[in-house]
Amino acid sequence: MYYLGIDVGGMSIKGGLIDEKGNILFKESVPTKPERDYKDIIADMATLCETLIKKENLDKQEIKGIGVGIPGTIDVEKGVIVYANNINFKKVPIEKELSKYFSCPIHIGNDANVAAFGELKFGTGKGVRDLILITLGTGIGTGIIVDNKIILGKGGAGGEGGHIGFIYNGRKCSCGKNGCWEAYASASALIKMTEKSISKNPEGLLAELARQEGKVSGKTAFIAEKNGDKEAKRIVSNYIKYVSDGIISLVNIFRPDLVLIGGGISNEGDALMKRIQRRVNRFSYGGNINPKITVKKALLMNDAGILGAAALCL
Ligand SMILES: [Zn+2]
Repeated sequence: MYYLGIDVGGMSIKGGLIDEKGNILFKESVPTKPERDYKDIIADMATLCETLIKKENLDKQEIKGIGVGIPGTIDVEKGVIVYANNINFKKVPIEKELSKYFSCPIHIGNDANVAAFGELKFGTGKGVRDLILITLGTGIGTGIIVDNKIILGKGGAGGEGGHIGFIYNGRKCSCGKNGCWEAYASASALIKMTEKSISKNPEGLLAELARQEGKVSGKTAFIAEKNGDKEAKRIVSNYIKYVSDGIISLVNIFRPDLVLIGGGISNEGDALMKRIQRRVNRFSYGGNINPKITVKKALLMNDAGILGAAALCL
């Protein structure tokens, strides 16, 4: 059986032809050019799907479903993109529009939710029932799965863990509120903390590393910390507390089997996951009495979008 997974981003539309075990047989991408009319963008998605089908010498009828993941608020029941970040989509009836090209079932979902579902079906979450995927990037994306189901909320607008209240009247968040978790624990927040420190101490190791890299990245503070830099130790230690304490809030509500971390920061690997896991288990409600939480790196990374989208069709 074959499925198509489409991962729509502000820069590119990625597509993959996938079998029922989650093997990617072919993948391709095309530029999104997000300023265009939605009908043209969806026509490109359809062409991308047709290209993938031809590569495996299949007929359209052999495709059992098409899944699409998009950043934003998605009304899954109506098959409508209510609003998409970085793409000029407002109230776009994507399911109806794609049905002009394909007769198989079409499923859509928010990108963070779709990635979490991909991890549940094909990644680190195989075999568990409850998991939360936290993607640390420009913002924080959260995909929350309870009892094998994605938490959507009314009109698909729920499950936005990045915007839980973290510090009263704290840093300005991209959503317009102050003090959201993502203003402290996203990769962008770590970069800002590193930049602030560099501006105060332009001769330090952090500044030196930034000059070598040509920019401050999410890795800068971690590299300096490994080299014993005191200021980097302070930044990384605070950052781990910020990440962990937001996770603790989610754990206290959902108590999942597994918390997965995605995004570039997760490349810090097991050492970082263990540090987060230790704090999460120490301070989650009930301490050592309640079931332990495992924190792991997300497995699917760049393919999470297409695999998760295809998994919506299973
Ligand atoms: Zn916010």
